[in-house]
Formats: sequence, structure tokens, C-alpha cells
Amino acid sequence: MYTHTGATSKAMMDANPQLFEVYHSGYAEQVRMWPRNPLDDIIKYLSTQSSSLKIIDLGCGEARLAKEVPQRTVKSFDLVAVNETVTACDISKLPLEDEYADVAVFCLSLMGTNYSDFLIEARRALKWKGLLLIAEVASRFSGHNPSNFVAGVESLGFRLLPGHTLSQFSGKPEKHMGRNKKRKRGAQASNGIDASEKGSSAFFYLFAFRKAEKEISNEEPSGSSHLPNLAACLYKRR
Ligand code: SAH
Repeated sequence: MYTHTGATSKAMMDANPQLFEVYHSGYAEQVRMWPRNPLDDIIKYLSTQSSSLKIIDLGCGEARLAKEVPQRTVKSFDLVAVNETVTACDISKLPLEDEYADVAVFCLSLMGTNYSDFLIEARRALKWKGLLLIAEVASRFSGHNPSNFVAGVESLGFRLLPGHTLSQFSGKPEKHMGRNKKRKRGAQASNGIDASEKGSSAFFYLFAFRKAEKEISNEEPSGSSHLPNLAACLYKRR
């Protein structure tokens, strides 16, 4: 999925839904070994926000967000619907009206080579000043430095919120390990992600943007030229 457009991935999943199961069983295995799952932070944060917010979870996987942020309207989207709460679609084309949502979440789901289309589509589906939350693995950014990425997202009509991020998850992954001894075995050396920590101690980044007032001019290109390519997140069998 990191090496194809969303549309190609959708066609592949439609032709062979087992691919999704294979990916997700591997993904779930990896997540268990991570020092921390950014989805937990997103769930915690959204649970403290107004219950009137309409939230869209883009690339929802197992749709845990909808399950664990109850009393909120959460619509979940992924290539394959794991249950009836999920709408199967390519998130570069959401079956949603313009300015539907207050919050759009991409938790580790900016996977397509055309991920700028996912962001442009999220912007369409977000209300003015709507919140865009993005969690990504630090190793996907060149030199673990997300500044080009942030500038690219801003060029699509978003503004990074003051304070930069909800959380940078900075600090060695081990710092977060104490909370769950069982996870200790999965510390940095065997976390299963190709995140070598070079140049930064951040493991994940969680960005919070707002949809900016400024409309993007129709003459502007799709925006892909402003956004850096993100490295694939490689899962290693150990
Ligand atoms: N957000 C979930 C799942 C992360 S795995 C969580 O944090 O647990 C990334 C998910 O993004 C996968 O389920 C994958 O199928 C989905 N995804 C990637 N590209 C997509 C696309 N073009 N359209 C819809 N979903 C996509």
C-alpha cells in the first residue's frame, strides 16, 4: 500500500480481500510490540472534547476509534470494511458531503503514493477551522525531520496548531515502557519498525492542524509537488 495509489490498493483489496486480513494480522502483531500506540493518545484526546463533534477516521483499520470514543459521531473509512460501522472506500474519494466533519484523523494511514489526495479530500470534508490529526512513524520522514511534511500539509490549506503537535512522543521509546511491563520486550531494538532513531528521539509524531481560512486557488496544482515522499514503514519479522 505504500508503493501504490489508494485507487490501486482498493482494486487489489477488492480482488483479494484476504490481503487486508494478512496486513492487519501482521499490523496488530507489530502494534502489540510498540512502546506506544498513537491511536491511544488520539482516543484519549477526543474523549475529552465536545460530544457534538463529528469525527471521521480515515484509514480506520479495525475501527477502534469509533468503538472507544463513544457518544460521539465517528464515521470510519477503510479499503475493506471489517464490520458494519466501517465504510469501504479509497479515502481519496470519501462518500461525504463538503464540510461535514469537525475532526479528521489519519492514524498511520497516509500510505498511498498519492497521500496528498487523501489530505485534499479530508480538507474538503472538514468544516472551516476543522481539526486534522495525523499520526505517523518518525522514520517515514527524511532524517526523522517532519518540517518539509508540515510545510507541505500547510500548502494544502491547513495550519499547524501553535504548540506544534499534540504530542511528539519524543523521548526514547523505553521511557514509555514502564507503563506496561509486558511490552518491555518490544523496546527499541525489537519494535519491528525500521525506525533507527537517527538524529531524533521521536518515535511517532502526532500533528494537529486546523483547516485554514484561505481557500486554495483552483489554479494550484494538486499539491503533491509540495509534499515530500514518505518512506515506507517496513515491518520486520524477528
Ligand atoms: N488507523 C488505524 C489503522 C492503521 S493501519 C489504527 O491506528 O489502528 C493503516 C490503515 O490505512 C489500513 O487499514 C489501510 O487499509 C488503510 N488505508 C491505507 N490506504 C488507504 C486508502 N487509500 N483508502 C482507505 N484506507 C486506506
